[in-house]
Amino acid sequence: MALMTGEQYIESIRNIKMEVYLMGVKVDVPVDNPILRPSLNSVRMTYDLAQLPEYKGLMTATDPETGEEINRFNNIHRSADDLIKKVKMQRLLGQQTASCFQRCVGMDAFNALWSATYDTDKKHGTSYFKNFKKFLDYVKDKDLTVDGAMTDPKGDRSLAPHQQPDPDMYLHIVERRADGIVVKGAKAHQTGALNSHEMIVMPTVAMSPEDKDYAVSFAVPLDAPGLFMIIGRQSCDTRRLELGNGIDVGNAEFGGVEALVVFDNVFVPNDRIFLNGETEFAGTLVERFAGYHRQSYGGCKVGVGDVLIGAAALAADYNGASKASHIKDKLIEMTHLNETLYCCGIACSAEGRQTESGNYIIDLLLANVCKQNVTRFPYEIVRLAEDIAGGLMVTAPSGKDLFDSKLGPVVEKYLHAAPGVKTENRLRVLRLIENLALGGAAVGYRTESMHGAGSPQAQRIMISRQSDIASKKEFAKKIAGIRE
Ligand code: SF4
Ligand code: FE
Repeated sequence: MALMTGEQYIESIRNIKMEVYLMGVKVDVPVDNPILRPSLNSVRMTYDLAQLPEYKGLMTATDPETGEEINRFNNIHRSADDLIKKVKMQRLLGQQTASCFQRCVGMDAFNALWSATYDTDKKHGTSYFKNFKKFLDYVKDKDLTVDGAMTDPKGDRSLAPHQQPDPDMYLHIVERRADGIVVKGAKAHQTGALNSHEMIVMPTVAMSPEDKDYAVSFAVPLDAPGLFMIIGRQSCDTRRLELGNGIDVGNAEFGGVEALVVFDNVFVPNDRIFLNGETEFAGTLVERFAGYHRQSYGGCKVGVGDVLIGAAALAADYNGASKASHIKDKLIEMTHLNETLYCCGIACSAEGRQTESGNYIIDLLLANVCKQNVTRFPYEIVRLAEDIAGGLMVTAPSGKDLFDSKLGPVVEKYLHAAPGVKTENRLRVLRLIENLALGGAAVGYRTESMHGAGSPQAQRIMISRQSDIASKKEFAKKIAGIRE
């Protein structure tokens, strides 16, 4: 089948009867909900841009098995160049949406499962690779969006999955049947779940043999009986319910939302199972998925950073401050930090290698360094943007005041700055900075930079494992003339 258009994508999601709750109320048509719609628009861009001739080969790839053009989000990376193009595509989408466009988790899950199922089958004689490939062929053919769900609620962090007083703190198998399994539990912080056709579930930690029922991976559609979502609250989200000119939301068209996805005894047929009790491969899957997603942040967060740097520069222009040397220097610093993240995303891709299963995996050390930097630099970039913007980004009157017959002229008069600059535009750019720094997009830019794809300590553990201190000691001994 051909690539879907953005419009076809929206309608295809509309046709899935999902069970979604927002602020205690069941949402009948999530696609048309004003709080949820901007997040759907972000995913839509992954379809719209793939239709444009100028992005062919970047937003799309050629499937080597069929020779057909597929969306790059459904691509299995076959070279280091594929890995680099992935990062460039993510930067482009970050620039165009200034938010999380959500489809990457599926792509990262595909590539992690491709090699992990292959390795599991090799050791255990299972048929997970065949199951997974059949699922992926279906996804590619229909140009679907797939969510990748990893993070369990985790309960008491000092206890392994099987030791938790409440067994549902990690998603697990509650029944094994001849035709499949029944699972129970939840996945937290699920970006894009409600904008996806299918969801891939993976374990969230390395496991021991006692955790057998928790070492499970599979795919289910979003309308699977027993599956429902509770949407996360975001700062300023109800501004999207206000009628008006959209100034106060900062980014009226795009956004991202997360959900707590609950699996209340969900049935998974045998041919949708990709891991079922082979505990030693739970860690493999986590490590590879996390590695790919840490690479991803060297693209998407850089693209959103581009928008924030542009917004800060515009705010300086509108304030009449752009010629001040400290402003120029702050913009240089923001650019330096942002491009450093991009360097990491490109480097871990360029250093990618082929796995035994045939696809390409990033350099894990560099991908973890990439994400570790992402836990820091966007905070500094936001700090500098707030510095340049000035306090008005959090004290400005509303768009309604600006367009009120009595108050409008007053707002116009007192918030006017550089000559020739419309006060409305000054307020628009300040609200965009507010959105990225503190509002809804801060979930996808600032706090997600900290915790998305694993919190900082998770990267430090991987950096420690990959750092090969032993050979570094040998370098030092040789140079220092040490013979032990
Ligand atoms: Fe993609 Fe970035 Fe969102 Fe992850 S955080 S899904 S990499 S846009
Ligand atoms: Fe993320």
